Amino acid sequence: AVTVQGLAKQFGALRAIDTVDFSIAQGEFFTLLGPSGCGKTTTLRCVAGLESADTGRIEIDGKPVFDSATGLDLPANERAIGMVFQSYAVWPHMNVAENIGYPLKVRGVAGTQIAARVEEVLKLLDMAGLGGRMPSQLSGGQQQRVALGRALAIEPRVLLLDEPLSNLDAKLRELMRAELKLIQRRAGLPILYVTHDQVEALSMSDRIAVMSAGRIHHLAAPEEIYDRPATRFVLDFVGAVN
Ligand code: ATP
Repeated sequence: AVTVQGLAKQFGALRAIDTVDFSIAQGEFFTLLGPSGCGKTTTLRCVAGLESADTGRIEIDGKPVFDSATGLDLPANERAIGMVFQSYAVWPHMNVAENIGYPLKVRGVAGTQIAARVEEVLKLLDMAGLGGRMPSQLSGGQQQRVALGRALAIEPRVLLLDEPLSNLDAKLRELMRAELKLIQRRAGLPILYVTHDQVEALSMSDRIAVMSAGRIHHLAAPEEIYDRPATRFVLDFVGAVN
């Protein structure tokens, strides 16, 4: 559902990403894992359309959204993506339904259609009946689910998640890992997930790309990465679990 080919991006003399290639299948949970500064967020931002790569090509559902060869660079709001970031913002002055429906409202979708989609999303999140609550009346995990719901409202073709659980305490983080997997399976969506947390990556992902200094060192299923790390870096980084 997502194909990234030959993606590279420099900031001045710094090669933030250096020819990154991967593809994410429909319904796949795909993780970019690596230490701070390895280029995970920059890669995700390029897929999102929040950053323009210097070279490369990105397709979402077979449709090119970026191509340095032709100058194509669709803006974020034309890429049909849902995003949740570390500093997920749930608007405190809007209730749950208004928070989830907001992206549809700014796109000019009719009120009745918004209400119907919000109901669907609430069901997906196991939050049916809570649309009228204010965020202050929700637990941290529920607030996080609302942030996810807002990303799902537009029926995205792919979900981009950048360290979405890192603000939560350890117990809630573990709970949300399981919830996120469940919601993804229900929605049947591909996920591009960014984290520096090996345990998180190993426990959630269908495949992991381990990155260092702008490059992918090993791209494989969690078991293979754990059992047969491709490079010394992968061994040290993933092995740090123990
Ligand atoms: P973190 O987990 O800390 O967010 P990361 O792996 O996501 O790290 P990136 O945020 O992609 O890494 O950054 C990759 C490199 O590019 C880093 O060295 C970073 O300092 C640099 N960088 C990122 N954005 C910019 C920018 N707008 N201007 C200059 N340098 C940048």
